[in-house]
Amino acid sequence: MSQCRVLDGVVVAKAIRDDLADRVTAVRLALGRPPALGIILVGDDPASAVYVRGKVKSGADSGLTVDLIRLPASTPLEAVLAEVRRLNASPIHDAILVQSPLPAAMGPHAETTVFETIDPAKDADGFSPVNVGRLVQNRATLRSCTPAGVMEMLKRSDIAVAGRRAVVIGRSDIVGKPMALMLLHANATVTICHSRTADLPAVAREADLLVVAIGRAGFVTRDFVKPGAVVIDVGMNQLTDAATVEAWYPPESKRRATFAKNGSLLVGDVDPRVEEVAGALTPVPGGVGPLTIAMLMNNTVVAAESRAR
Ligand code: NAP
Repeated sequence: MSQCRVLDGVVVAKAIRDDLADRVTAVRLALGRPPALGIILVGDDPASAVYVRGKVKSGADSGLTVDLIRLPASTPLEAVLAEVRRLNASPIHDAILVQSPLPAAMGPHAETTVFETIDPAKDADGFSPVNVGRLVQNRATLRSCTPAGVMEMLKRSDIAVAGRRAVVIGRSDIVGKPMALMLLHANATVTICHSRTADLPAVAREADLLVVAIGRAGFVTRDFVKPGAVVIDVGMNQLTDAATVEAWYPPESKRRATFAKNGSLLVGDVDPRVEEVAGALTPVPGGVGPLTIAMLMNNTVVAAESRAR
């Protein structure tokens, strides 16, 4: 039998949301209304629609107000920025999120421009240059939700970070880099890997804590993992290859049944057979994903609390 511990993100996310309840009540008393998040969704990308639905539902479950502003895909960037500025000035919105990706027609710098326009005090995603700078200095209050969720998972699962070797595969602005900084601030010794890293499996095998955020289904195999290591799988990919499903999951697995029904499976960047060597592993789905949304709720409450002071 496998000794690998499954790190259940659904359970941890619920605990995070439960801990918000008293703080939501305190904000209600201080401001006369619940913490409020404005979400701007531009266009009709189906994956974005699913993510936003999850955020709206989670907000309602946590007693927050979530206003969803939908704009057509043809909206010019300037009109999106005008909407951001309206929410920046709004006395009834504490936090703002503009769902990524923005339509490609807006140009390659649209998201950066949006992140620079959001008031840093209302920056629910923690992506504004001000909040990224504060994260570098270890004094951020609004931090990128996915890596912040991973830190919360490690803390609540009693997994030690200080003094350990951490390897982060992926160096994006929204996951890899802030993840590495948060692990560094928690006193891990951190290595960041990317597509140009030489002998990636050997570097990954040095890790006590391996965080994978690259966007390639099952890329990290047993060869990347030191026996007993904690493996955090941030990746979210749609797998459509039946042969891979058969190789990964035993015939009785529910995942095979899901694949047979839907023709695709949501999988991570880590081959699930890594459980044969890892000491702990986050599943996909049900690992990091729910934590990201819980930390978005947390950031909204943090932003509201600072307005209530
Ligand atoms: P991204 O911006 O595309 O960045 C991917 C990173 O992976 C890049 O730094 C890239 O290296 C690196 N990479 C790509 N192929 C590689 C390879 N063969 N070997 C080593 N490194 C490689 O992606 P992201 O936004 O960080 O997202 C990563 C994954 O996490 C995606 O699957 C995404 O859907 C998922 N995600 C999940 C959540 C959640 O809530 N669970 C939240 C956000 C993202 P270079 O820099 O050298 O190109």
